[in-house]
Amino acid sequence: MPHTVIIGAGISGLTCAYQLMQLGDDVLLLEASNRAGGVIGTERLYGYLLETGPNTLRGSTAELEDLLDSLRMNDRIVEASAASNTRSILRDNVLRSLPRNPLEIFSTSIISAKAKLRAVREPFVAAMSQEDETIDSFFTRRFGSEVAQYLADPFVSGVYAGDKDMLSIRHTFPSLWKHEHERGSVIKGMLRGRKKRTTSPSRSRRGIYSFKRGLAELPQRLEKDLGARIACGALVSSITRMNDRYEITLTAGSQILADRVILATPAYACAPMLKGLATNVRDLLAQVRYAPIATLHLGFANSQFSKLPQGFGFLVPSREKKQFLGCIFSSSMFADRAPAGHTLLTVMIGGSTQPELARLDAEELSERVLPDLRRLLSITGEPLFTHLHSWNRAIPQYEIGYQVIIEGINEIEQAFPGLHLLGSYRGGVSVGDCIRNATELAQTLV
Ligand SMILES: Cc1cc2nc3c(=O)[nH]c(=O)nc-3n(C[C@H](O)[C@H](O)[C@H](O)COP(=O)(O)OP(=O)(O)OC[C@H]3O[C@@H](n4cnc5c(N)ncnc54)[C@H](O)[C@@H]3O)c2cc1C
Repeated sequence: MPHTVIIGAGISGLTCAYQLMQLGDDVLLLEASNRAGGVIGTERLYGYLLETGPNTLRGSTAELEDLLDSLRMNDRIVEASAASNTRSILRDNVLRSLPRNPLEIFSTSIISAKAKLRAVREPFVAAMSQEDETIDSFFTRRFGSEVAQYLADPFVSGVYAGDKDMLSIRHTFPSLWKHEHERGSVIKGMLRGRKKRTTSPSRSRRGIYSFKRGLAELPQRLEKDLGARIACGALVSSITRMNDRYEITLTAGSQILADRVILATPAYACAPMLKGLATNVRDLLAQVRYAPIATLHLGFANSQFSKLPQGFGFLVPSREKKQFLGCIFSSSMFADRAPAGHTLLTVMIGGSTQPELARLDAEELSERVLPDLRRLLSITGEPLFTHLHSWNRAIPQYEIGYQVIIEGINEIEQAFPGLHLLGSYRGGVSVGDCIRNATELAQTLV
């Protein structure tokens, strides 16, 4: 009988299992599908390297650095090209460079001169003691409406596939919410954070990065090191309490007893498994909404561009009324993402603001996005390669009122000792957030 059973081998479950194993715990990781990694997926097709889920890792936390050291993966890392520091935003049908630091806000043409003057008055805007508020309301109140519409909106839709009118500032950008509550201003809080970082430098200053054979290298390495402690093709149907243990039932019929269970599946997958424990748990987790995303990969010969796209890519504010959320210049960012003489673009479509688009097929989506891409990036002709991956439920949405869900999850864990809930619906959606949360949980358990 394993001491700990973890359900779900996305990056959250894999990291937690690996850390527990390193700490000497007897752990078993159960995964429903036939591979580990969850939404992280890299495919190699016709010489293109395609990321169907996350594209990049960004920045460095101590947990991520320690994990990469421990997995001996530092020589597998590929940093994005220097040009990738440049991102653009579409405004009035023109791509405009995004400020790389707060001071560059004065030189950007994304927002007007009047909006810049309004934005820099932020430290003098009175702080409000609201429990929560939408991202739109927070940015409009503190920085003005143009910043909300042309900087916050595309970031929220491009990164979270979210809607700024629905997402909670407190849970989606907890540091910004804290800056207002603790320092009275976002700018003051950020400046103080910068000062702290320069006096106590982190171990590494990585920007945007991936691995030589794509992001899937990370879950693959974790899976390899876990060895027989991971079982794929093991779909869990229910969890019940047996005295002071848990009985985990697989759809194949077998049962496993464990002292501790860690659910590392998406929230919607937790709900049916927990039906035997408490109905309020199921109802609570079923409330977490996930936004759909379609990832459309388009390959072109370099000769089809009058100038090759350089940089990270661009994001599209809702006000521009386009049929996609943003476009990543995948082969400009990393070498070896397209065959020699070719360019790979990754277009993100759908999200909370245009969910119906994420259900369309590749042909329909190409027809809808190509006219704009051709004009914006000076492309002639048809793509030579097209690949679509559609996610019905891609990214959890920390919507206004999310505090109730977080408190409910905390109460569940208190009511059922030995049961833990882990995943991107709690404590941040990025791969780095998932790794940090999984590491912290493992360390508190052993
Ligand atoms: C399209 C897309 C783009 C993204 N881009 C980025 C990016 O560029 N950078 C970034 O940092 N983050 C990005 N993210 C977010 C990040 O990738 C995810 O938040 C993170 O990988 C989620 O990991 P997880 O382990 O919590 O969940 P998941 O990856 O969803 O893993 C959960 C696992 O549980 C398994 N499971 C479900 N039910 C059961 C069951 N009953 N029994 C057993 N197993 C079960 C599933 O099969 C799955 O393997 C992106 C996400 C998506 C979808």
